[in-house]
Amino acid sequence: MAQDPNAITSKNRYPKTYYAATKNHELTDEAFPDNLSVETCIVGGGYAGLMTALGLVERGHKNIAIVEKHAVGYGCSGRNGGLVFGGYSLGPKALVKQVGIEHAKELYQFTNAAVSLIRRRVVQYTINCDLVDKGVLWANWFKDQQLLHDEQAFMRDTMEIDWDYIPPEEFREILKTDRYHGALYEPNAMHFHPLNYALGIAKELQKQGVKIYQNCEVKDIDYQSTTKKVKTAKGNIKAKNIVLCGGGYIGDLCKPVSRSVLPIATYVMATEPLGEHLHKAINTQAAIYDTRFAFDYYRPLKDSRILWGGRINANTKKPKDLNHILKRDMLKVYPQLEGVNIEYDWQGWMAYARHHMAQIGEVAPSVWYNIGFGGHGVAPTTAAGEIIAAAITKENAHYKKFQPWGLPWNGGPFGPPSAQLSYWWYELKDWWKEISE
Ligand SMILES: Cc1cc2nc3c(=O)[nH]c(=O)nc-3n(C[C@H](O)[C@H](O)[C@H](O)COP(=O)(O)OP(=O)(O)OC[C@H]3O[C@@H](n4cnc5c(N)ncnc54)[C@H](O)[C@@H]3O)c2cc1C
Repeated sequence: MAQDPNAITSKNRYPKTYYAATKNHELTDEAFPDNLSVETCIVGGGYAGLMTALGLVERGHKNIAIVEKHAVGYGCSGRNGGLVFGGYSLGPKALVKQVGIEHAKELYQFTNAAVSLIRRRVVQYTINCDLVDKGVLWANWFKDQQLLHDEQAFMRDTMEIDWDYIPPEEFREILKTDRYHGALYEPNAMHFHPLNYALGIAKELQKQGVKIYQNCEVKDIDYQSTTKKVKTAKGNIKAKNIVLCGGGYIGDLCKPVSRSVLPIATYVMATEPLGEHLHKAINTQAAIYDTRFAFDYYRPLKDSRILWGGRINANTKKPKDLNHILKRDMLKVYPQLEGVNIEYDWQGWMAYARHHMAQIGEVAPSVWYNIGFGGHGVAPTTAAGEIIAAAITKENAHYKKFQPWGLPWNGGPFGPPSAQLSYWWYELKDWWKEISE
């Protein structure tokens, strides 16, 4: 795997992002003790790891350690677009096709409930993360209105979820652009400062007795013997349960799990504060994404910046001119923002399985995995945390509902080029649809 260009130095735990520049606090480091033995050891301090820990704590489970190679929220969880909404990277229609309506509905419902759970936790644990509970807009890139009507009907009739239709003329009052042709509005959705959310949850976990070891890479896991051992850069941990939550940064740890995902890059930038110019483009507090396969996703920030994300790439090297690339994308939609400066740009590595579905399950007795959330991971990682916590505490076996997808091989050296080819194919289809209208 390529070297992470954003690897931390001892001075700076996070890559240069708008979120790192505006974080509320950093976590205090815990000393790594000798002969550490825990009930549950979680590898990775992103949302998947943090939400598993919190799910366990809320169920009364004790003696938990999270081991994080860099810092809490260092990966996708501290760099994402901040859109919190239901669903998985594998879309709801594909879910229905693959496992049938009832099963798909149940899976989707896990993520919808997760949105409500995030809302509840922000209040319950007083997490200062700029939560804007104003929904998400799915803006139509294409002229075809049937696309919106079909999706609305599908969500209502099959998934029992109501999204509101906004016709093109009305939508142009909300987003000041001719680029879009109407939208669907998803009310049970929100956006927030993802790193401050991760740090707030981590602080609460520490308060509740969870040990979080940062700057501590897990090098190997002895997961097949009865007494499981997690070998870290700072010492060994004996654990009854292990949960693997390394996301796109997992490297080759525990091969059956790591060889089932590929790191896929996506990019974000933040403009300078725009003052009243913001409303000449975006006249809503909702977050936005569009109807293409490789969609733009963006939102207004509280200091009147626009946080803009987009594109996916199997090549994990950060493009040199990333700010220009993303600014060009923004100007395609809002040419009126021509003179605006871009103050931050960054990338993150999402974890994608070949089937694009979240991977939640047990790879060996008491060795769990929570990985592969792709570009749609905020709510699903919360759902996954609940599901694994419920499995470990023997509350239920909902994790089995994810068995149809399993841990298929990521294709090794052929994985990235074949993923890239399929992305180009979908992008070509979108381009063809656009020019044929
Ligand atoms: C730029 C970007 C924008 C996105 N926008 C959105 C969005 O708007 N909405 C949405 O729903 N989703 C979005 N996503 C996806 C979402 O952020 C992810 O799916 C989710 O955060 C994944 O969480 P995770 O915990 O699985 O992985 P990560 O957050 O990547 O965490 C994995 C952690 O594991 C650690 N780790 C790895 N290996 C080891 C090891 N050997 N030892 C110790 N620690 C290890 C890493 O350092 C890392 O901190 C976006 C992703 C990116 C990159």
